[in-house]
Amino acid sequence: MTPKLSQLQPDYLIAPRWLVPVVPHAQVLENHLVAVTGDTILAIVDQQQADELWPDIKRVVLAEHVLLPGLINTHCHSAMTLFRGFADDLPLHDWLYDNIWPAEQRWVGPDFVRDGTELAVVEMLRSGTTCFSDNYFFPDVAAAVAVKAGMRVTVGLLVIDLPTAWAADADEYFRRGIEVHQNFLSEPLVRTAFAPHAPYSVSDIQLERIALLADEMDIPIHMHLHESPWEIEDSMEKYGIRPMARLEKIGMLNPRLMAVHMTQVSDHEIELLAQRGVHVLHCPESNLKLASGFCPVHKLQTAGVNITIATDGAASNNDLDLLGEAQTASFLAKGLSANPRALPVADALEMVTINAAKALGMEAEIGSIEVGKQADFCALDFSAPESHPVHDVLSQIIYASHRQQVSDVWVAGERLLEQGKLTRMDMADIISRADQWGERLQRHRKEHQQLA
Ligand SMILES: [Zn+2]
Repeated sequence: MTPKLSQLQPDYLIAPRWLVPVVPHAQVLENHLVAVTGDTILAIVDQQQADELWPDIKRVVLAEHVLLPGLINTHCHSAMTLFRGFADDLPLHDWLYDNIWPAEQRWVGPDFVRDGTELAVVEMLRSGTTCFSDNYFFPDVAAAVAVKAGMRVTVGLLVIDLPTAWAADADEYFRRGIEVHQNFLSEPLVRTAFAPHAPYSVSDIQLERIALLADEMDIPIHMHLHESPWEIEDSMEKYGIRPMARLEKIGMLNPRLMAVHMTQVSDHEIELLAQRGVHVLHCPESNLKLASGFCPVHKLQTAGVNITIATDGAASNNDLDLLGEAQTASFLAKGLSANPRALPVADALEMVTINAAKALGMEAEIGSIEVGKQADFCALDFSAPESHPVHDVLSQIIYASHRQQVSDVWVAGERLLEQGKLTRMDMADIISRADQWGERLQRHRKEHQQLA
């Protein structure tokens, strides 16, 4: 039996001017309060109910703000914040093979990942992101950073046919990945996913192993797929089929698969993605910057594919700003489909909240403000002139808001950003370590150029 409201005792109430729970679709509540106990949403009540029930409970009043579920970034390589601006204006292949991979081979280790992930976590929290799905080396370090920061994460258990500082060969990638999964099983903020890098960098035999293990461990598979025309050509040359057809043969096209990018996709492939319940992780700014192609969001959405919007790493974006990404995604979808009705604001907001939670298999816990879900929120301040007048709250969020308006963030009930200030993390120290890496990488680049 559900207890009556009067029997409940919240720890605190959040009282925003507007509340956008995301579920139900496009709902905007005015002068409603969210009651939180521990890490959980206890109730959503109107002003009068709150005054009657809980006159003495502490209130966080956000008089000119909108409260949203915490944003969820389904695809990033968080430690790559240290490569922000390191190699710009190049196509994907040259960017990766000639610039990023050599620098990673030289520099990436646990310290690099710790410092880069901390920088990313600070940037994401300050942008309203409360959960991120990471895909990088040393996932154990990234998970530890998230736990220390109080942020939610799904770390990718990387597999790539390339020896790196994280693992020397396939067996070691699997062994270390499974160890990370087991070591964080009891940590409520941490989940894992298999992260085969891409079809061109992981062989069939390893993909088959991943498909089996992901079922056994009941975790998602997070993979770059159909990112650029080059990837398709490479696959046709090596395998005689497109990457998606390869995954189909291996049995990987199912609701576990989080397919990142999907800029090269035929009508038949769109149908297949919808039938199989594959999630598409759309990274519009990274695709634009690397000129990789355009993900046909409107067509995918019409076909019923679950789509999320993500930032990708800061080396190809170059920020981790999900609000900005949602705006880009919406405008791009309209332009690409020649249809101004494509990707409207309520849908764009779902793609960075509830759709993202679905892709991660976490829709029962996060992605919307509903009773019983985790208390993950972000608040946007609408007091500045740029946010006035407010004809439509959702339009204001997606089309006119900037991440600097994010004032407060909660993860699992803990306020990690309070009136613009981080409550747990030492920002000055994190910036200073990032700058030290900046100097090292610049020296590396100069030496590299002198040798060339
Ligand atoms: Zn990526």
